[in-house]
Amino acid sequence: MRPETLNPLFAETESLEGVGPKLKKPLEKLGLTRVRDLAYHLPDRFVQRRAVSDLDEPNVGEQIVVALTVIEHRASPNNRAPHRVLAQDAKGNVCALVYFGKASYTARKLLPQGEKRWVAGKLEQYDQWLQIVHPDHVAEDSAGLMGNLVEPVYSLAEGLTQPKVANLVHQALERAPELPEWIERGVLDRHKWPAWRDALILAHRGEHPEARDRLAYDELLANSLALMLVKDANRRRRGQPLVGDGRLRGKLALPFPLTGAQRRSIGEIEGDLAQQSPMLRLLQGDVGSGKTVVALEAMLIAVEAGAQAAMLAPTEILARQHYETLRAMAGPTGVNVALLTGRDKGRARESILMGLVDGSIDVIVGTHAIFQDSVAYRNLGLVVIDEQHKFGVSQRLLLTQKGRVTPHVLAMTATPIPRTLRLAEFGEMDVSQLDEMPPGRQAIDTRVVALDRLADVIDGLARHLEAGNQAYWVCPMVRGSETETEDLAAAETRFATLKARFGDAAVLVHGQLKPELKDAAMERFASGQAKLLVATTVIEVGVDVPNATLMVIEQAERFGLAQLHQLRGRVGRGSAKSVCLLLRGEALSETGRERLALMRETQDGFRLAEEDLRLRGGGELLGTRQSGDTPFRVADLEQITRLLPIAHDDARLLVERDGGLASARGEAARTLLYLFERDWGVQLLRGG
Ligand code: ADP
Ligand code: MG
Repeated sequence: MRPETLNPLFAETESLEGVGPKLKKPLEKLGLTRVRDLAYHLPDRFVQRRAVSDLDEPNVGEQIVVALTVIEHRASPNNRAPHRVLAQDAKGNVCALVYFGKASYTARKLLPQGEKRWVAGKLEQYDQWLQIVHPDHVAEDSAGLMGNLVEPVYSLAEGLTQPKVANLVHQALERAPELPEWIERGVLDRHKWPAWRDALILAHRGEHPEARDRLAYDELLANSLALMLVKDANRRRRGQPLVGDGRLRGKLALPFPLTGAQRRSIGEIEGDLAQQSPMLRLLQGDVGSGKTVVALEAMLIAVEAGAQAAMLAPTEILARQHYETLRAMAGPTGVNVALLTGRDKGRARESILMGLVDGSIDVIVGTHAIFQDSVAYRNLGLVVIDEQHKFGVSQRLLLTQKGRVTPHVLAMTATPIPRTLRLAEFGEMDVSQLDEMPPGRQAIDTRVVALDRLADVIDGLARHLEAGNQAYWVCPMVRGSETETEDLAAAETRFATLKARFGDAAVLVHGQLKPELKDAAMERFASGQAKLLVATTVIEVGVDVPNATLMVIEQAERFGLAQLHQLRGRVGRGSAKSVCLLLRGEALSETGRERLALMRETQDGFRLAEEDLRLRGGGELLGTRQSGDTPFRVADLEQITRLLPIAHDDARLLVERDGGLASARGEAARTLLYLFERDWGVQLLRGG
């Protein structure tokens, strides 16, 4: 149970003065649903204001505080024009205070004609007019404004203003209790970190630069600690040692020798499977590095040992593709492979469920459907999860609660993740790396092209399709962001253009399509009926289409290098493969282009991921959410890179020494886990 001290922080925002149903919405839009969220809504930056006695003094563009007397209100003649309030300083210089939309009502209240008011905001010039658009503050006396010339700037949503948010943050901070210290004394001293509550207050004031680091560290520590507890609990769980005798693997007639990396990974997995405690392993390898065979070998070990194996895919179509690949490869072994998706209903579904219960099905491939409550296994020994990044830790935990004994878990991902981020997301797992490509893979010809050559690119695409090939066209889409609608509109517009040229040969797939429609479109492309797939997300191009040997990536500057690399890995296995990175004009002049040039130079996904992190503080790696968010909201990428390794070691030591979190520091650390809602970690505590 959550410690009572935290209750005030977990109260709804509506418990704060001034928050009703109307304010709740914009707050939610910012992800602020509880008092705690407001306390952690740290300023984006700070403004330094200058108090001036008159408007002769400051320069346009400056943030000022000045006393003005209201001369008159000039109401907007129509809805689009702003409401202007003319006001003058002590010398008679006139300035317009400009309000758009509904804010004009407030303006009338705040700025009565003939009265003197202290106004804070950014001075601008519009024609000959001096103006302040939407002043940040209007006050009757100077005290509050002059006393605090450094001011936080918070990110806002429509319906919120700086003073309003500042006020709510202030209330939230007042409710913040003193909490026991979960960071070791030595670490605190070394970094000069203040206590938790002080750190919060200081961070909002922009004082004490280390304060913010401490808050980030808290979050990183909470995450690492929870993952370490998962790992620790897993180690103590009773799993099922799976030792195969090789009889099935011996019958596999692979048309190629395994790469060294594949053999090494299989060896690592084999070692884990033989243990009593369940495996938690991540298999990381670029697209095309041959993860499927590794998974198959692992599943055959499980079956040889008398258990069943399940493979979980993120979409139906990927599940079907895996099913077909595995069934073909496993053919000579006589192993019974089945497919189960949400689409299977009635008798077909019943018979599969029966097969799982009676054990006649050895290997099941499917979507989430294979883990529904109604699905029971005779003896599930191994779960393989493809495209791991789609599943969070808590989902991973749920999966492992399926069997009588905890199954072994092998997660697979093609996303090259730099080491630090990997610790953040998969810190509880061991890692196998497929760092060697099967021989015979052709390098991909990668070009960077300006968007104003779009017509040429489309002509090239037409020639490519006429020659009997297929192609992808990728438009970025940032999910859950302000620009989501715009992004979707852009993708639809582009699709319309392409459809005008290529007719029914072009299909569009985006995240907001109904699953059935999406599947139907994907199938038309995978089967070769459709020649051009216009897609907005990475996962939609996850299906292998050997004939699709060209990919155009629009607004490539918005993708991270690692992501671009993952995308381009999807182009088919033909001989002439090419990827065209289309850039908007403004991106061409930026260093963006230099960065993208790296894409031509190297096919090494890890190098690209590390470069991403180095060049852009990784911002872009996660900028488009497609590659999966960091699990953090306080720590930024720079802080993650710098502080996560320390937090991770700290967490490991703590769990080694005090796995039950029973010491004083352990108790404090429990509070920390609740504070950051990593309480699934607490539930796994030893003896708890
Ligand atoms: P991933 O899932 O890692 O993207 P796949 O498992 O789909 O890659 O493998 C990509 C292709 O490479 C498949 O056609 C597979 O049969 C082939 N392949 C896998 N391992 C080897 C190997 N050792 N030598 C040659 N080809 C291989
Ligand atoms: Mg694959």
